[in-house]
Amino acid sequence: EDVDGTVRMAVVGLGGFALKRALPAIAAGKYCETTTLVSGSVRKAATTAERYDVEHVVDYDEFRRGEVADAYDAVYVATPNALHGEYVRAAADQGKHVICEKPLETTAERARELVDVCADAGVTLMTAYRIQLESTARRTREIVADGYIGEVVQVYGGFSHPVLETTSPDTWRLDPDLAGGGALVDLGIYPLNTTRYLLESDPVAVNAWTCSLEPAFDEVDEHVTFTLRFPGEITASCTASFNAHASSHLRLVGTDGMISISAPFGGVVPQNVIVERGEFSVEYTGNPDDEVEEEFDYFGYCVLTGTEPGPSGRDGLEDVRVIDAAYESAETGQWSDL
Ligand code: NDP
Repeated sequence: EDVDGTVRMAVVGLGGFALKRALPAIAAGKYCETTTLVSGSVRKAATTAERYDVEHVVDYDEFRRGEVADAYDAVYVATPNALHGEYVRAAADQGKHVICEKPLETTAERARELVDVCADAGVTLMTAYRIQLESTARRTREIVADGYIGEVVQVYGGFSHPVLETTSPDTWRLDPDLAGGGALVDLGIYPLNTTRYLLESDPVAVNAWTCSLEPAFDEVDEHVTFTLRFPGEITASCTASFNAHASSHLRLVGTDGMISISAPFGGVVPQNVIVERGEFSVEYTGNPDDEVEEEFDYFGYCVLTGTEPGPSGRDGLEDVRVIDAAYESAETGQWSDL
């Protein structure tokens, strides 16, 4: 369904993801347009503004003061995790809609505040879970809901990315104050959120174990393994790592069948999907869509039509709540109830 109008966006934080994925996706999509860049780097902001033909560039203080607030309707927050809150809050104060990167914030308490602030201001808050806008994940959700593989019994999900091969050791990702944790909060959130999305269910308990072997990961979890227990005694066994070969996988085993997705969390790749039921087996390749383009088009559509987005602020809050509980479990060695 097409709608009229365009949502004018301020992009806050010109880091790797904003530059490589979000800005091109906004430019390619139909419902959003970047009119404002918010950055601490004058030179980077100027070259980026030129490349995308963006009219306004402001720094973080100017943004907080709402200096060019008339130029945008919505704000995309793509800063380090612990700084999401202050920019989401500034946007809500200005009456602007928000799409905020994952994780919504670094603790459930801080994330809940953002959900409340946006609700009080009457603005849309979407958590930027690109996988939920990806056609393979959406199709898989339908197959599960249709009962094609029977009742789901067990889920296996994993995501690893060697963080030091692509970023310097002084990255905010290894600073617990800015990141809120390590592999679990940065990468484990993908199997967590995607499993919740596919099962349309929230876990009731979590058990986690973390470890750090290399000195670079002294302050955050280098590796994590966690188990989620869902209603109906469905379990999801998940892993994430900051220091292993890049890989991602997801498998759902049901009473009558199985779905396995290669590279579910990776980016613009044609995922290989295997669906089995009894004796039958089909293998297909999903569309290599740019799910980030879909994500911004969906956000724009939601803002223009006043629709509550699928990955809402509450969805983002729920994952942070589970992550908090998982870190507590890693400390106590016990299951944490949710
Ligand atoms: P980067 O480190 O590449 O970029 C972060 C940017 O935030 C910086 O370039 C900077 O922009 C801005 N910033 C503002 N304050 C600070 C500060 N104190 N320290 C460092 N940077 C600051 O990170 P990413 O782009 O990889 O990640 C940004 C966000 O996006 C995170 O929340 C992350 O979890 C999320 N993300 C989501 C992905 C997804 O698939 N949805 C994938 C990757 C990341 P400037 O120089 O313009 O001031």
